[in-house]
Formats: sequence, structure tokens, C-alpha cells
Amino acid sequence: MTATMPAYTLHSAASHGTLTRRPVPIITEPEDVLVRITMTGICGTDRAILLGEAAAAPGVVLGHESAGRVAAVGAAVRSLRGGDRVVVNPTYYCTACPMCRRGRMALCRAKDGHEIGVDRDGTMAQYALVPERFVHPIPDELPDQRAALVEPLACVLNNLRRAAPRWDDTILVVGGGPIGALCALVLTCRGFRVQLTEPDPRRAALVREALPRSVEVTAVADLVRPPDLVIDTVGTMPGIGIDLVGDGGTILVMGERLGSVARIPLHRLATGAIRLVGAGPYAPADFRSALKLAPGLPLESLVSHEIPLDRAGEAMTMLGVPDPADGYAALKILLTMSAADA
Ligand SMILES: [Zn+2]
Ligand SMILES: [Zn+2]
Repeated sequence: MTATMPAYTLHSAASHGTLTRRPVPIITEPEDVLVRITMTGICGTDRAILLGEAAAAPGVVLGHESAGRVAAVGAAVRSLRGGDRVVVNPTYYCTACPMCRRGRMALCRAKDGHEIGVDRDGTMAQYALVPERFVHPIPDELPDQRAALVEPLACVLNNLRRAAPRWDDTILVVGGGPIGALCALVLTCRGFRVQLTEPDPRRAALVREALPRSVEVTAVADLVRPPDLVIDTVGTMPGIGIDLVGDGGTILVMGERLGSVARIPLHRLATGAIRLVGAGPYAPADFRSALKLAPGLPLESLVSHEIPLDRAGEAMTMLGVPDPADGYAALKILLTMSAADA
């Protein structure tokens, strides 16, 4: 009899998620690693997939921000052993395509069918099967709650590397979701002056509670001087924040909204020496940087709820899925897997 496990899957491309049972994946390749997942964060991408605002394969197990333990390894795996605590890098690269060979793994051309939680089964399940090069051991002192946030941290580090703020920059983060909060947390821990703006009062209260007091949660109207860097984590500003940023400043667009279009006054862009930046997916080096920095960053402070996988539907409701009009009743939710589910 095939062993089964609980899994939260995309029922159809633009519809809803379903809690179901799936066969436990079986190691077939020598470099395969079977990871028993302990925690998986719910990401804005999962939300967008469930709302039909981002593409994913019907039937796929969702989830890509995870912590776990190695359950079993293929014959060729040397860097990991059963029981090792690990995190999974879900951003595929093949090492062989023209972009990978030029060292631009983030822009790998062979991602189709390999993106964990998008078009290959993800981590909202008891187990996930992942090639060895995407499984990273973590130190004992890194709690699972923090380890599950290493993936979004890699995303933030990639974006901040591209925006390259100067130490004396004033930074405005637009959007108080987990990514906005994570940007603000990293920057304030690194000594930057950070303000964050979030129009939804419930979300503003959640983010104010989660972040150190050094981050000023404020309304745009109350900004005293124009920020040097505007980080748009929402992706819906009609002028991408060009009316907010100071001369010589930078606008970093992190919010990925399919079909979102902005009108940019090019005269202001040219005369104000404004830099407009998009970062794309992170590279393997960003993931390694995130692993290195995580022990010094209190990432788990962004976790507002831990909810068992069998209540995933309830967790999604708290994030406005399926009805966005319900708004957000949570910041970062971690889905937890009990060992007894296996
Ligand atoms: Zn994510
Ligand atoms: Zn490639």
C-alpha cells in the first residue's frame, strides 16, 4: 500500500485550494532528498495563485517557504544525512542553460516545470522531494520559525542589493505585508532610517506590533522629507512613487502584479535623476547570504500565526482568500505539520 500524506493543492488554475491526501514522494534520482516539512509560510505568491492573479499548474502542491528535516537521501547525496535540519531553496536553476553558464542562475531558461510550489509540488505537505543542491543545512540555534523565513529574506536581499541604498539614505517602504515588513526589519537592523506606510489600519497595527520601534509606521501625508529610496512592495501605485521620491533617489519595484501599468512623468525621471529598479528572482548566492544573515535577524517576529496544515483553508481566509474584500487579519502565517500526520 502506498503511504499518503496531507497536502494543500491548487484545485484548478484560477480557483481555490484543497486539502487533500497525496502519495508520499519516492526517491527516484540519485541526487534526490526527501524532506519532512515542519513549517511552511504562506506567501503573497500563494495568495495570488489562489486568487487567479498568478499562474501555477492545476493540482500542484502549493508552498515554497519552508523548514524541515531530511527524511531520506538518494545514493549520490553527500552533503546531507537523515535527520539534518534544513531549508529548501525553491528557485530552480539548471546549471547548463546559456544564462546559468554565464553565472546568471536567477534568469535560468529551464525553470518551467521545476518551480517548487508553482509548477512542481511544493512544501504545504508533510514531505517534499528536492534535488540536493536546493537543500541547505541550518544550525541548531536557528528555530524553524526563523528558518521558514529564509526564503523571503533571500528575495529581500536580492532586491536591496539591486537598489544599493547608501548608509545615510532615508527609506520608505510602501506596503505593510510580510515582504514590506521584512524589508523594514532588515534595513532597520542594519542601521538605516526606515519609514513604512500601510493604508489598511488593521494591517498597520499588525506591522507596528511586529517591527522594532525604530521603524516609523506613518501615513504618506506625514512624511517630513522625500525619501531617497522608495520600496514599492505592492505594485499598484499609478505613478510608481515618483511623486514621493527625492532628487537623485531610487524607486525599487518589488510588488509583482500581472497587468499592473503605471504612468511615469519622464521629465521628472530625467531631471530628478531618479533610478527605477526591478530585481527579478534571487540568485543562489542571495539564498546563501540569507542563510548567513538569518542567525542575526529576528525574522520570526513577523509571524503572527502558526496554524496546523489541516486548517489551511481557515488560514487562507485570514489573508483574504477567496474574498479579498475580507482584507488581512494576519501578517505572516506559518502552516505547521505534525509528525503524526505522516
Ligand atoms: Zn514567497
Ligand atoms: Zn539554467
